[in-house]
Amino acid sequence: MIPLPQSAEVIVVGGGIVGLSVALALAQAGVKPLLLEAKSFGGAVTGGSLAAIGTHMHGLAEFAVMSHACDLWRDLAARTGNPFEHNPQGQIGFIRDDEGLESGAAWVAEERALGAECRMLTPAEVSEVEPHLTGPLLGATFAPDTATVNPFLAARTVLAEARAAGAVALDHTPVAALLTEAGRINGVRMADGTEIAAGQVVLAAGPWSQEIGASVGIDLPVVPRQAQCLATLRQPAGTITRVVTAVESRGGVASGYTQIQQATSGQILFNTVVDFIDTPPGAKDSIREVPSGFVLSSIDTLTMLFPALAEIPLLRSWVRFEAVSPDSRFLAGTLERDGLWICAGDNGSGYCRSLMLGRFLAGEITGAPVLDAALQRDARTLYDPARHGRAA
Ligand SMILES: Cc1cc2nc3c(=O)[nH]c(=O)nc-3n(C[C@H](O)[C@H](O)[C@H](O)COP(=O)(O)OP(=O)(O)OC[C@H]3O[C@@H](n4cnc5c(N)ncnc54)[C@H](O)[C@@H]3O)c2cc1C
Repeated sequence: MIPLPQSAEVIVVGGGIVGLSVALALAQAGVKPLLLEAKSFGGAVTGGSLAAIGTHMHGLAEFAVMSHACDLWRDLAARTGNPFEHNPQGQIGFIRDDEGLESGAAWVAEERALGAECRMLTPAEVSEVEPHLTGPLLGATFAPDTATVNPFLAARTVLAEARAAGAVALDHTPVAALLTEAGRINGVRMADGTEIAAGQVVLAAGPWSQEIGASVGIDLPVVPRQAQCLATLRQPAGTITRVVTAVESRGGVASGYTQIQQATSGQILFNTVVDFIDTPPGAKDSIREVPSGFVLSSIDTLTMLFPALAEIPLLRSWVRFEAVSPDSRFLAGTLERDGLWICAGDNGSGYCRSLMLGRFLAGEITGAPVLDAALQRDARTLYDPARHGRAA
């Protein structure tokens, strides 16, 4: 076991894809970060993700930074020999009513105006693009650039890259509290009482960032929300070739989210939430089982869209806790104490943004931006934690 260092220039708390990306970007910027993960790297929401990487229907304000986020994933795959199954398979947004047709066409027009290659599909074109998608659709949107990655393998790749660049990353090392001196954050206290001094601390602990902030009286507006997923037994390759989502979804399970795709392993993965499910207090860490209503509504949706898959055998299900902020957008930036930063509040689509957010935050922390100036400015405005007001 590697002994805990007594101090670090920057401590990153949380080893999901966001904390890993922050550690990578800091290490690449010449800072030697210490990354502390309570359990296993990528074991929380990161490992339970469907990890689609795309800009489609994520909000036009974020379009530029998200396009760059997608480029960063493509570049990482190219540079590393793609050990994490980056697969540019495209995304279909299925449409079942006239309202969906109208809003889908509006999204496509607006995204095309910003340079995206998406387009509308007629039902006949949908069957050409996705042969088993034969449910009662009025049409679809199509974004050919959307990719997926294997969430565990991608987290492992970012971890390896961060370590190679000089980051020290330790798992099974929970942080209990932040340390302060004269109003400045100056380190962390570990669960076993050990103290580690740090010039800067980054909270990248998903919904758990809230309770770590509370250790110094900061009330972060990040709350946990259940997201759940079902996986089938392995199916023949090509059973589903694209990421299939509902066009009315706006990137987030609360909006009636549907996402279906086939993993490289052959399993068909789907997360469908029809009713928003409240998270019981204190239940951020584990949950006994996926609610049966979710399983039934998911199967209904899958068989409505893909009637040929009506008899498909399910293998497993899981629940994870996503971190949600009041306006469903990340909080990435400095907090109200010197030396304290946050990068959390993913609203269920933080895999895509993670590499970009890591670079953004590393630029803010070091004062030497790696993103180009316009993107750095955009990200600062979009993700400024102060937009929700300063906590007490
Ligand atoms: C079913 C599902 C589908 C999804 N699909 C997509 C998708 O298609 N595209 C997309 O972009 N995103 C998707 N997401 C969301 C995406 O997975 C998350 O936004 C992303 O993984 C968040 O990463 P994170 O590092 O912030 O959080 P986490 O992975 O939760 O990492 C936080 C880490 O902090 C650690 N931690 C907690 N407390 C402490 C402590 N005291 N000390 C040290 N460490 C601590 C935890 O153990 C955890 O590992 C999906 C999520 C789910 C569940």
